[in-house]
Amino acid sequence: MTILTPALDPAALRAIPGLILPGDPGYDEARTPWNLAADQRPAAVAEPTTIADAARIVGAVAALGLRIAPQASGHGAMPLAERGLSDAVLLRLHRLTGVSIDAERRVARVVGGTIWREVVDAAAAHGLAARHGSSPDVSVSGYVLGGGLSFYAREHGLAAHHVRAFEMITADGDLVRASADSEPELFWALRGGGGSFGAVVAMEIELLPVAEVHAGMMLWDMSAASAVLQAWRDWTRDLDRCATTSLRLMRFPPIPELPPFLSGRAVVVIDGAILADEARSADLLAPLRALGPELDTFARMPVAGLVDVHMDPPVPSPAVVDHVMLGELDDAALAALLEVAGPDAQDAPLFAELRHLGGALAETQDAAVPGFAGEYALFAVDLVPVPELILAATARVCAIADAMRGWAHGAPYLNFLDRITDTSTAYAPDTAQRMRRVRDTFDPARTWLAAHPVPEGAVG
Ligand SMILES: Cc1cc2nc3c(=O)[nH]c(=O)nc-3n(C[C@H](O)[C@H](O)[C@H](O)COP(=O)(O)OP(=O)(O)OC[C@H]3O[C@@H](n4cnc5c(N)ncnc54)[C@H](O)[C@@H]3O)c2cc1C
Repeated sequence: MTILTPALDPAALRAIPGLILPGDPGYDEARTPWNLAADQRPAAVAEPTTIADAARIVGAVAALGLRIAPQASGHGAMPLAERGLSDAVLLRLHRLTGVSIDAERRVARVVGGTIWREVVDAAAAHGLAARHGSSPDVSVSGYVLGGGLSFYAREHGLAAHHVRAFEMITADGDLVRASADSEPELFWALRGGGGSFGAVVAMEIELLPVAEVHAGMMLWDMSAASAVLQAWRDWTRDLDRCATTSLRLMRFPPIPELPPFLSGRAVVVIDGAILADEARSADLLAPLRALGPELDTFARMPVAGLVDVHMDPPVPSPAVVDHVMLGELDDAALAALLEVAGPDAQDAPLFAELRHLGGALAETQDAAVPGFAGEYALFAVDLVPVPELILAATARVCAIADAMRGWAHGAPYLNFLDRITDTSTAYAPDTAQRMRRVRDTFDPARTWLAAHPVPEGAVG
């Protein structure tokens, strides 16, 4: 299929109320995503505040034959910025927010651009928990559309597998509801297939009857990296699925914004959550405590606190990332990681992280992302303090991923790849074909521009 890109007519765009064009006051603010390293320059930006307004703008823009890139927080903005958006309208949904809780059904209705903090707090007020990720200001929609990996995940699975329904604007500006009973193929595709099908303006997500968790972090000096990494790997090998944790090898710049125990230091951090009572949690953590952490904050806490445990940056930040899905980690794998991110590494990024998978994540579901075959997800992140340093920072995160490719196993997790990616590596061929069929049904003109598009290929 050939997609025709019509000549851009600024006058036609200007005739659509609600669009902000280059040169207009507010354009720079509106086009700036959470990831400040992503320099997005769309033909226009829209920031609708109601679902009706979003639908009107989508219908009008699509009628001009232009492409539309939905974006909520902009945590995953890099692929769109790298591709260039001069032929597209950026549909920013960050002003389209709201959450309502049905405590009896344990379901939250979350409006398109809402961030996790809002949902976590609203659910916690009812003694309920949501399958949020490590960052309070990632949006629910982008996270869920890619899969959604939380610190509840080994026990309770991917967030995408626990959505009851999506409400989506199609390229015609119509609203469609997708659930197990209504448009089931679209429902299947939205559970991990990304933003290629339409603009998701609301979701009904399942909540967990959990009011408290045993969560926190342990911290060691980087000099203990080898012992801690090995002990964590051994610990995670046959760990009860009630525990979901991450290990990071981290290097902090010497800046006053950081607490003294972190500023200018290289450290090893293990954090996460255990869904068990006090005694069982203490039993499970004993092998890690035996390593004598310098800091140990694991304790019972209200679920609302879990979203802060990972200490992700609380404000928009310039970042580059890389990722590889990994299988079993033998001693050679640990040595390879230490060489590029451990105490003696010369040019390591801000952090190299291993997230422990398995448990419910390994149980296949009928969804575009069926689960994870990998045992660990490697996630490398570096900051880009000035744009000139983007290549150096990218080289640092790529070096971490490259060092670990020998242990790659299973499809990569696209939410951890904030860069242009060959998405055919992330979906099995029959899954990709099924996604194309759904895309061609709901978006035959290919209006939608996603960070991670449906892999191309023949539709059988
Ligand atoms: C600091 C940090 C911490 C993270 N922690 C985790 C974690 O713990 N677990 C995890 O699973 N992931 C995590 N991620 C990855 C995160 O889930 C992805 O970056 C995700 O894409 C962010 O979604 P967003 O909507 O906030 O970002 P956006 O950049 O707004 O969205 C990314 C893409 O998703 C699609 N999209 C988003 N919203 C919509 C919508 N409403 N309708 C249609 N398409 C849409 C679009 O294609 C868009 O380009 C983290 C990322 C960062 C930077």
